[in-house]
Amino acid sequence: MKLLVTGGAGYIGSIVARLLIEQGHEVVIFDNLERGHREAVPEQARLIVGDVRNPEDTHAALGGAGFEGVLHFAALALVGESVDHPGRYYRTNVAGTLNLLEAMVAAGVARLVFSSTCAVYGQPDEVPIAETAPPRPQNAYGASKLAADHLIGDFCTAHGIAAVSLRYFNVAGAHGEAGEDHEPETHLIPNILNVALGKGDSVRIFGSDYPTPDGTAVRDYIHIGDLADAHLLALRHARAGEHLILNLGNGNGFSVREVIDVARRVTGHPIPAREAPRRPGDPPRLVAASQRIRAELGWSPRRPELETMIADAWAFAQAHPHGYSRSASAASA
Ligand code: UDP
Repeated sequence: MKLLVTGGAGYIGSIVARLLIEQGHEVVIFDNLERGHREAVPEQARLIVGDVRNPEDTHAALGGAGFEGVLHFAALALVGESVDHPGRYYRTNVAGTLNLLEAMVAAGVARLVFSSTCAVYGQPDEVPIAETAPPRPQNAYGASKLAADHLIGDFCTAHGIAAVSLRYFNVAGAHGEAGEDHEPETHLIPNILNVALGKGDSVRIFGSDYPTPDGTAVRDYIHIGDLADAHLLALRHARAGEHLILNLGNGNGFSVREVIDVARRVTGHPIPAREAPRRPGDPPRLVAASQRIRAELGWSPRRPELETMIADAWAFAQAHPHGYSRSASAASA
């Protein structure tokens, strides 16, 4: 298929783009390069530098190009930033998705895979979290992604688009030469590995008084390769006029302390940790019920072990200690 990948210079989009290319698809990447990296764009993909917030850009990218589907990753995705700057989040994540949907309708492109998030559920009443849990986002990030899900559902009904929204839990790991490089970095595993790289003295544990077995917050970590696999299956599975919503996680939870312990074993570094206050808005436990995605798509994780995720992230971090802009050899030159 000929596919447009928005946000294809980012961590998840660039890795899904690689897998699509490996499977023989033709990939065009649409990214404003504000938070993504030109170096993350796979060599075989054409890059259009454009912005989903600009309807002219989305219409120009899709119009007359013969695309058969869109994978929409372009978004802002930091909870804290979304609380301070909700306007940015609604403009990019909601207005951007609307621009894209309108451009798809105008261009006759009828297949969409959307990166949604478990943040739409907020503080769930029950864990593991099923797709039937009431969405009650606690911040503008989750609310903006939920609004985008609503938009997509309405466009499927009105225009016969075939869409799948994948609600990600915590994505980790790397795929070959592609990995995670955020500025600023807020995520647990990259922060831990930065200490192992000597880029910090210790990692902070945000909250040690949660109602969990060791008092630290529990999350469902999924390998980026397994997450990417689900996108390829979703693309094939999408049915005209239907909007399928699926949680995408392994169904296993790991605490912050468990993640740090595994990273100590993988890296051989002591990785000092110190307790810090809870991070506002962090729920104690987020774990996916993964039955629906397994049943609907036939998906199952090939790398469910945390060791594999951290080992792959560690290999990327060592090869790119300063992110994409400078490789290990360039950094030591
Ligand atoms: N966390 C932590 N120290 C850090 C970064 C994160 O203790 O330096 C905790 C965070 O409070 C949460 C978990 O690790 O409970 C996962 O956080 P992350 O930002 O990786 O993902 P999130 O679950 O917020 O999407």
